[in-house]
Amino acid sequence: MSEDIIREESMVDLWNVWYSELHQGRAGLTLKVKQVIYSGQSPFQRIDILETYEFGRMLVLYGSIMITEKDEFVYHEMISHVPLFTHPNPRRVLVIGGGDGGTVREVLKHPEVEQVTLVEIDQMVVEKCKEYFPQVACELDNPKTRILFQDGAQFMAETDEKFDVILVDASDPIGPAEVLFQKNFHQNIYNRLNEDGIMVTQSESPWYHQRTLRRMYENLRSIFPLVRIYWAYVPTYPSSIWSFTLCSKKYHPIKDFKADQYRELGISTNYYNAGIHQACFVLPNFIKKAILNR
Ligand code: SAM
Repeated sequence: MSEDIIREESMVDLWNVWYSELHQGRAGLTLKVKQVIYSGQSPFQRIDILETYEFGRMLVLYGSIMITEKDEFVYHEMISHVPLFTHPNPRRVLVIGGGDGGTVREVLKHPEVEQVTLVEIDQMVVEKCKEYFPQVACELDNPKTRILFQDGAQFMAETDEKFDVILVDASDPIGPAEVLFQKNFHQNIYNRLNEDGIMVTQSESPWYHQRTLRRMYENLRSIFPLVRIYWAYVPTYPSSIWSFTLCSKKYHPIKDFKADQYRELGISTNYYNAGIHQACFVLPNFIKKAILNR
């Protein structure tokens, strides 16, 4: 585990009905809570579902906010459409983590996708999201969706299947998701991608988690010929600026961007569009200096 990943501490103050998530123990996000809908413990993590005033229903795993009804579209559109509008023919897609179903929902907006495999360690996350977030989990029963309840790192090490696009929709690198940030996992992803394959992994906050992001970037650059960081604005994630890292064996996310297909398909999105596809790769100087050494 990197030194800059400190377990998010969260607390629900039932008397004042506020939820606070502390980032690195030094800053945080506080939301007023209408109702605690569910609290329980799976074999892997604590699961909380709260109804908040500002962001609607919210899923908290292992003490970290995973999704809220109001802003989940940003993360799910950005992890999916950037690689899927880059790869010319993404037929077989793999999602590691992502048990809420938001990434699968976005992936299946692409008609050329024949099958999306979701490898989620925690069956209870899928069950609770189907029950409490039906608008996010809406494509988990689609016949094109195959769900395997397994550790994603173990799946990558053992499978002999090949994929066109692999999306690592992991929780923070602490607890069960720690393995999904390690170099041998990324090497196994490289090995299981077709020769023109693309991988995107969520890569934490470029504000709070610079060491984690830098280490991931350096490891990925030693594996893939093309590695690019991009970012999006997610209000409920630490610092609100969230990074993704795209790794490609062949295609370039800007030069090979399928802008015509995006226009023709006319998919409904609330954050992603053709301008964002290109602009999201433009990095502020503080990220260039801290991560790329430029
Ligand atoms: N959007 C989110 C974020 O960045 O906070 C990620 C959300 S998604 C719900 C993360 C999922 O990864 C969780 O459902 C969790 O159970 C799953 N997960 C954690 N470790 C895993 C592992 N080793 N293999 C497969 N899934 C894992």
